[in-house]
Amino acid sequence: MTDPATALSDVRNRIAHAAKIARRSADDVALIAVSKTHPAEAIMPLIAAGQRLFGENRVQEAAAKWPALREAHPDLSLHLVGQLQSNKADEAVALFDCIHSLDRPSLVTALARAMDKAGRHLPCFVQVNIGAEEQKGGCAIADLPALLAQARGADLNVIGLMCVPPLGIEPAPFFALLDKLAADHGLRDRSMGMSDDFETAVMLGATHVRVGSALFGARS
Ligand SMILES: *Cc1c(COP(=O)(O)O)cnc(C)c1O
Repeated sequence: MTDPATALSDVRNRIAHAAKIARRSADDVALIAVSKTHPAEAIMPLIAAGQRLFGENRVQEAAAKWPALREAHPDLSLHLVGQLQSNKADEAVALFDCIHSLDRPSLVTALARAMDKAGRHLPCFVQVNIGAEEQKGGCAIADLPALLAQARGADLNVIGLMCVPPLGIEPAPFFALLDKLAADHGLRDRSMGMSDDFETAVMLGATHVRVGSALFGARS
């Protein structure tokens, strides 16, 4: 594994290259460094190299790792990219700056209540089950209009759509579909693309790429 600063500049260069080909500005693509399973000692070199935006997929793990890092670096942002249970909504609202996994009516209700209570109104992405896979998080495409209407009615700040395409198939058609759905609903942001496919996602309109192993090395 190359050192973290080199890995970071490599990923940033690859994003910039893909953006240039697609005639987009690299400034319109936020790189979320997904640090799940990696300890604070692995995160600190990336912070030292200038990375400020991170992602975690579990509330419990984030609660253990991030308060100390955030105290030392008040300008960090932390996004929740994994599934959220309704009973952890309060904790998630206190810990994170953005939620990428809004995917069902009960979670809209729980998050709206938690945000009102905390007086913290976080931007959210609605996660779409873009490959219509059983057992996968995300709202069915057919249910998206109703979920968005409910979220808007509850005053949630939905800024875009998020997806994790099916494993082992070419992801581009799924990214293109998410881009179209976001456009159809007048949403600005698209959270799509991971270590193996973020350049494809950038070329197809990603505004947020979620990159773990290309920055931190493989997860054990
Ligand atoms: C782990 C994870 C990522 C990052 O995956 P890599 O393949 O390691 O880049 C992105 N998005 C979500 C939702 C994840 O859980």
